[in-house]
Amino acid sequence: MKVHEIMQKRMAFSFEVFPPKTDVGLEKLVGKDGVLEKLYKMNPDYISCTYGAGGSNVGTNLVVLDAIKKSGRVVPITHFTCIGNTREGIKQQLQTYLDHGINHILALRGDLPFGWTGTGGDLHYATELVKFIRDEFGDKFSIAVAGSPEGHIACRSLEADISFLKQKQDEGANFIMTQLCWDMDKFRYWIDAIRKAGITMPVDVGIMPVLDAKATINMALSRNGCVMPRALCEIISKNWIFPDPFAPNESEQSIAAKQAAFKEAGMAYTVKLIDEYRVCGINGIHLYALNKYEDVARLVSLIGLKDM
Ligand code: FAD
Repeated sequence: MKVHEIMQKRMAFSFEVFPPKTDVGLEKLVGKDGVLEKLYKMNPDYISCTYGAGGSNVGTNLVVLDAIKKSGRVVPITHFTCIGNTREGIKQQLQTYLDHGINHILALRGDLPFGWTGTGGDLHYATELVKFIRDEFGDKFSIAVAGSPEGHIACRSLEADISFLKQKQDEGANFIMTQLCWDMDKFRYWIDAIRKAGITMPVDVGIMPVLDAKATINMALSRNGCVMPRALCEIISKNWIFPDPFAPNESEQSIAAKQAAFKEAGMAYTVKLIDEYRVCGINGIHLYALNKYEDVARLVSLIGLKDM
């Protein structure tokens, strides 16, 4: 069954991993008793693997997806971007995915590298990529697309962004995977607005567990311009570990204690966030597993999304 069909029947649950940069990292992820094998035990509906803009890690992306496919336990979904890709190159790469039995794709424009004004490829937006996939491959792929509840960082308005999301549906996309959003008022506004705009695609909400202060701030601010609600800022403030002119010689022990306290508070924050999402009319929870297992497994057990 295709993932969007599952979401039309019930709440889906999934993980996201990324292609490791080293052989050791790859072995830890795909090897025997590795992270993937542990993630399968939680019975996710799919596991997606990111794609380096510019195709920098295409080989490893396929190794990871192959491992998921060969397990026979979970549907693999590849992310894919337009950055630096010609039409012919896209056609070849997508055919390779199909040859490997991978028929679910998250069709993205990709982040423009600093200083670039366009994708440097033949296609300029995700709408064009969705159309291209349907024109070239018919219904062979189930297509997910990105949705930004706070508006994409470069959009000219939220309305324009939503109209392009509708265009993705009109071109043949099947479901939405959302950008990170911690601001539930903004999310509720967005989900009402997309439904009013005639967007009926299932919405799969992307959640990065709040476990590490640096990663949380980085994810919000390095690319996405996400709002951090007061409650989240408080957790960061109370457990501040960054250079502090008033405490330049903080001990490693004190920093470690704050990191542990941050993780505990962040875990509770993430559970509450997922509770709020689950009553907003969404169709799936997509957890960024960040190639780790223990914390994610604890989170899954706390949210009680799925009986295991
Ligand atoms: P688009 O939908 O094409 O939108 C980009 C911008 O252009 C928006 O501001 C939009 O309003 C505007 N726009 C869209 N269509 C048009 C049009 N026809 N005319 C004028 N303006 C238009 N990046 C990676 O490199 N690798 C990954 O693996 C990856 N995974 C991701 C997973 C998820 C769930 C999400 C949400 C994002 C991911 N990204 C990834 C980041 C993504 O590539 C960036 O957010 C990128 O900047 C935008 O991609 P998009 O598909 O949303 O672009």
